[in-house]
Amino acid sequence: MFTYMDADSKRPPLSTIMDDYWDLLPIYQPSISDPETDLDIKRVLFAYFPTYRDSPLQPAWSRVLAVGDASGIQSPLSFGGFGALTRHLGRISTAVSEALVKDCLHKDDLGLVNAYRPDLSVTWMFQKAMSIKMKQRDVDPKFVNRLLATNFQIMNDMGMDTIKPFLQDVVRLDGLVGSLAKSFVADPTFMPEIVGHVGIPLLVDWLGHLSMLALYTVLHNAVSPALGLYADILDDHPRQQFQLRRQMEAWKFGSGSDYQFEKDE
Ligand SMILES: Cc1cc2nc3c(=O)[nH]c(=O)nc-3n(C[C@H](O)[C@H](O)[C@H](O)COP(=O)(O)OP(=O)(O)OC[C@H]3O[C@@H](n4cnc5c(N)ncnc54)[C@H](O)[C@@H]3O)c2cc1C
Repeated sequence: MFTYMDADSKRPPLSTIMDDYWDLLPIYQPSISDPETDLDIKRVLFAYFPTYRDSPLQPAWSRVLAVGDASGIQSPLSFGGFGALTRHLGRISTAVSEALVKDCLHKDDLGLVNAYRPDLSVTWMFQKAMSIKMKQRDVDPKFVNRLLATNFQIMNDMGMDTIKPFLQDVVRLDGLVGSLAKSFVADPTFMPEIVGHVGIPLLVDWLGHLSMLALYTVLHNAVSPALGLYADILDDHPRQQFQLRRQMEAWKFGSGSDYQFEKDE
């Protein structure tokens, strides 16, 4: 089980949250009536890790590139972080080998390997929708469950091409906009509640990332085919070639266009 929270000093300590979880475990898992006696406890593990809104993280030094969880290119918790990281293996190994061959090891060049990705930035809103802000009162205790139930039901109804990428932590414009539109139709009174819960500033920020998701989808499909050919003839300008290729990868991965549907395999 996991929860999202901010680092406000007025929040209860993590050990208190763990105690609450322990007390509430029988409600969450009805087969357990008393954790002390019903469980064969080997060890109790709880942990936290900080997340950064400006993910992927940009390199602070030249010649050093963060990989895996440390790079912030994929959430470690949303539906299996390591599995989701593997989608980048081919992209990153190609980019690193090109960086070494072309001597593009300045932190600005390496930053392009883990460039801004709207598919990642739009997900910030999801965790905000599942968090309770400080001083936020009168939140319906069923709010988060209703949000999750509605959205997952709709994505499931939309079929494997929608729910499978999402469960593999790949956000795409078609799935996101389609499921949001259908959620609105299915439960029109809920949308204003969600907006009220997350707040207008965050919504505006999210709409910016959603627009970028649309733009990256268009750029990948309309511009990359020609730009890729142009990049291929830039052997005499290795840095420019490196930068263009990373830009095209950002459009592709940043719009979830790298996702391979089963029918395409
Ligand atoms: C609770 C939880 C459940 C998860 N469940 C799944 C799942 O079901 N499926 C899935 O695919 N993924 C899951 N993940 C995500 C997956 O564990 C991570 O994405 C994956 O481990 C990342 O690998 P990594 O090598 O990048 O980082 P890590 O596995 O974190 O490796 C980094 C290593 O660096 C070491 N280190 C840190 N600082 C230093 C230092 N200064 N000097 C030397 N060593 C250092 C750390 O001790 C650690 O061993 C889960 C993650 C969590 C937290």
